[in-house]
Amino acid sequence: MNVADSERLSSALGSVGFEESEDIRNSNISIVNSCVVRQSSEDKVTAKVDQLTIEKRKNQEKIIVLMGCMVGPKTNNLEARFPDVDLFLQPQNYEPLIQLLYEKKGIDKEGCLSNLDVKPRISSFVPVSHGCDKFCAFCIIPYRRGREISREIPVVVDEVKKLASNGVKEITLLGQNVDSYGYDLPEDLTLADLFESLHEIDNIERIRFLTSHPIDMDIRIINSIASLPKVCESINLPFQSGSNNILQTMRRGYSREEYIELINIIRDKIPNVAMSADVIVGFCGESESDFEDTIDLIEEIKFDKLHTAIYSERPGTIAQRKMKDDVKMSDKQRRYKTLNDIQEKIQGEINSKLLGQISEVMIEGKRREKTFGRNRHDKIIYTNTSELKEGDIVDVKIDYAGPWAMKGEVINL
Ligand code: SF4
Repeated sequence: MNVADSERLSSALGSVGFEESEDIRNSNISIVNSCVVRQSSEDKVTAKVDQLTIEKRKNQEKIIVLMGCMVGPKTNNLEARFPDVDLFLQPQNYEPLIQLLYEKKGIDKEGCLSNLDVKPRISSFVPVSHGCDKFCAFCIIPYRRGREISREIPVVVDEVKKLASNGVKEITLLGQNVDSYGYDLPEDLTLADLFESLHEIDNIERIRFLTSHPIDMDIRIINSIASLPKVCESINLPFQSGSNNILQTMRRGYSREEYIELINIIRDKIPNVAMSADVIVGFCGESESDFEDTIDLIEEIKFDKLHTAIYSERPGTIAQRKMKDDVKMSDKQRRYKTLNDIQEKIQGEINSKLLGQISEVMIEGKRREKTFGRNRHDKIIYTNTSELKEGDIVDVKIDYAGPWAMKGEVINL
């Protein structure tokens, strides 16, 4: 979501004459888009702002903006912590920046935000809802991005048509909880309706979506993934813990058994589905036995990919206010490594079954003279040729399959 926000803001600034620069010493304006989902992310943001502050103290004309999840409704603490930052922007609230540029740089405000549009990359992010109503105990998102608001279907369709006319072939629909898309809209609309509308758009070849929540992944959504060929059969469904005790303290709203049942339904309706998930280790009160439950779950489900995170306390969350961060860091790190080692083995086994198989790959770039892209399961596959261009969709016969990437020969050049 942050990448999508940055792209949209960058595009808006481009439309009023700014150019991107990699050189922070010579840039007029530096915008740090912050993520505070984990302590390590916040540390990176702090280091970046400190670095920019050094530059600003040499040249007071520079503008520093801090935006994203680090910025809540009140900014007093941030102002005290970062006195050289000119502006603090809450996620997707770009107006104050445009106003500042108008005042300091004479930029014409008219037409800037209305032109907010992503750069046409072959695979583009399309935010379809913002915010979240779930309030999981560990998560800061609802406090920073607010309650859930869905963009109306015609608005999303218009944006995707424009992207398609600019050469985009793959879109990833984004929402903090994309499965609850539409619940706040007046009609009885769901993500399934959005899929159906977007499926009609010419030149869009693939539709992906992130991130799902087990509570809201209902049968209509599952059936539409199964029946609409452009919707990729690749689902990220975070479970966060395999222990019912921890799921309850996390306030996730489902049990381990309900999660497994949902996966079984998905696999029954979409036999060729690739499942990925997010999991947190070391949440408040997580015992060795709770952790064993998580290991059992990943060994039972066998995910194609797993995003593992070490729990870190986020100020303002329910967990930080009401629970104790009582798992030792050494235990958190050990559990993190254990899970990743098991997952790497599972991924290697799953991918090795693709050896000799043909996979449809959409080319996204080139590294070391070889083009690469992703298949419908979101797996990275390198080809044996440099003769392809971005957006080409080719069949690749897999001749190497490791846990993290695969390679093979293009058979329909
Ligand atoms: S559903 Fe996701 S974004 Fe919403 S509170 Fe839970 S973890 Fe955070």
